[in-house]
Amino acid sequence: MKFIEEELNEVKRHGRHIFLVILSMKDGGCIKLPEAYESKCTVLINGLLKWYSENSSLLNRKWRKDTDIFRSVMTELLLIRTRREAVENIYDVFFSKFRSPEDILRASKEDLEKAVYSLGMRKRVLLLKRAAAYLKEHEIRSPEDIDGLPGAGEYVKSILKLKLFNKGNTAVDRNGARVLFRYFYGYVPDVEKLEKCKEVERIRKECLDFYDDRLTLSYALMDLGYYVCKPRKPECNKCPLKDTCKYARGTL
Ligand code: SF4
Repeated sequence: MKFIEEELNEVKRHGRHIFLVILSMKDGGCIKLPEAYESKCTVLINGLLKWYSENSSLLNRKWRKDTDIFRSVMTELLLIRTRREAVENIYDVFFSKFRSPEDILRASKEDLEKAVYSLGMRKRVLLLKRAAAYLKEHEIRSPEDIDGLPGAGEYVKSILKLKLFNKGNTAVDRNGARVLFRYFYGYVPDVEKLEKCKEVERIRKECLDFYDDRLTLSYALMDLGYYVCKPRKPECNKCPLKDTCKYARGTL
């Protein structure tokens, strides 16, 4: 993060502030700065948003437009440690059967296990039950109400706060963290530590959270990680960040 610190110091020295101003999403979804302030962070955000605006019709999942609290919470729990395509395959059947927290609580363990069997992860049923119990007991009226949601990690809480209330930090999942690490550091650390490591937290605070539409930015980041910056073989030739990515500069 040395370069971000250096650039922030430079900004402070010149008495300038970082304003990431969205001039027009119609012009390819780019952001433009009020003065000539070019940083790797800005290039990253521009690249992600442009790529997302050009590809979002292919990438958008049906649940992204759905702001129903019960379905949004359940969907994020269904998405944990599985492929999106697997969730898409069961989505309609699952929510036609389970329409409320009460439906989840009433369902037998066997019924729920059967409904989510294809997604894997044995403790998923327990997560769904605990979350349903929380939703039954607590009305979700503010971002703070999300904080107590059992079974939800930082990413799940962040994406729910953004989606339901348009509040909170940029949501960085494991796919997004991989993009950030490769882009800034040129490598990827132990996958288990990826989302929680302090470097990702710093990039989020010092770079991504300056941007207003953090929900779109979160989707762009995680989608690029999912479809392009893949765990084993990143497709750098297809990536909008390849010219400034530290990893790509060492491999292309
Ligand atoms: S250029 Fe390659 S390594 Fe860098 S973010 Fe894109 S896909 Fe990932």
